[in-house]
Amino acid sequence: MSNELESLRERIEGINDEILALLQERGTIAKKIGEEKRKQGTQVYDPQREKEMLNHLIDNNEGPYNDNTIKQLFKEIFKASTDLQKSENEKHLYVSRKLKPEDTIVQFDNGAIIGNNKKSFVFGPCSVESQEQVDTVAKDLADRGEKFIRGGAFKPRTSPYDFQGLGEEGLKILKNTKDKYGLNVVSEIVNPSHFEMADEYLDVFQIGARNMQNFELLKEAGQTNKPILLKRGLSATIEEFIYAAEYIHSQGNSNIILCERGIRTYEKATRNTLDISAVPILKQGTHLPVMVDVTHSTGRKDIMLPCAKAALAVGADGVMAEVHPDPSVALSDAGQQMDLNEFDSFHKEIVQAAKLYEK
Ligand code: PEP
Ligand code: MN
Repeated sequence: MSNELESLRERIEGINDEILALLQERGTIAKKIGEEKRKQGTQVYDPQREKEMLNHLIDNNEGPYNDNTIKQLFKEIFKASTDLQKSENEKHLYVSRKLKPEDTIVQFDNGAIIGNNKKSFVFGPCSVESQEQVDTVAKDLADRGEKFIRGGAFKPRTSPYDFQGLGEEGLKILKNTKDKYGLNVVSEIVNPSHFEMADEYLDVFQIGARNMQNFELLKEAGQTNKPILLKRGLSATIEEFIYAAEYIHSQGNSNIILCERGIRTYEKATRNTLDISAVPILKQGTHLPVMVDVTHSTGRKDIMLPCAKAALAVGADGVMAEVHPDPSVALSDAGQQMDLNEFDSFHKEIVQAAKLYEK
């Protein structure tokens, strides 16, 4: 090798080291800027400032790299810094595992827990229709040793002409059932002013997919002291889902259960597309328990069991599914609720499967 080449290479390596040292310094300063922005509540990404910095660099560019190359290189450097600031910000989210490495465990008076490496189940009808209907399902669940029952009293239906639920009357039915069978009751709240009224009837307030970004509802849920089962929005990204949970937590309520319930995609073979990958991503990124609703995601009874098993296999803390004594006459979701016979085999199998994963 010629001496000239060798010495040029040495100089290049020296410059690499200098660039690295400068990048390290730049990153450290960017983190400090991030902290200041957090204190002031300003956005991490400031497009105007980025544009000004790029213009300044291009004005000073004397080659040999052309303006476009300089622009691309610095855009990468800027992006690395905003990524750094975002990742620092994530550590400051209440729901983030970076802030709290231990799993959140949601506990109930009757000894039930959600989280803590146990697999929990929430079954019950789509809508509360009558005392007899709920009691029939509750008896079946209690006989199986289940600890929860679900049922909607306020139904956020796509069409205003569909059954809207029994309202407070439905909550009273659930409370009667709770008193008879000792199950924790889970039911959806759609109006921020209803939490207070519903408090005496329910053990878990559900926030439905259609309300995942109803921020006033989330804030109010955060001011209650009951566990919140938060469903992923119909077209919500995982990041949006996590921020929705953050709305609740930031108001003081840390008892949050995330529920993946399928998202809208172009696929028509299922009612929604069950995003199974969301489960380990949510478990990694947050300390909250994660459940999977196999009814509203698949909308198909023939694949609910394998999907429920898949959910447990990827680390879900539990499964939700709809069960109705006579689905053919159900006032909502008639096509996708299991009858008690179908539920019998589903339940036996999923309880078996759960044993594989419980620690
Ligand atoms: C429900 O669980 O009753 C329900 C309406 O589900 P989602 O909000 O996920 O559509
Ligand atoms: Mn339903």
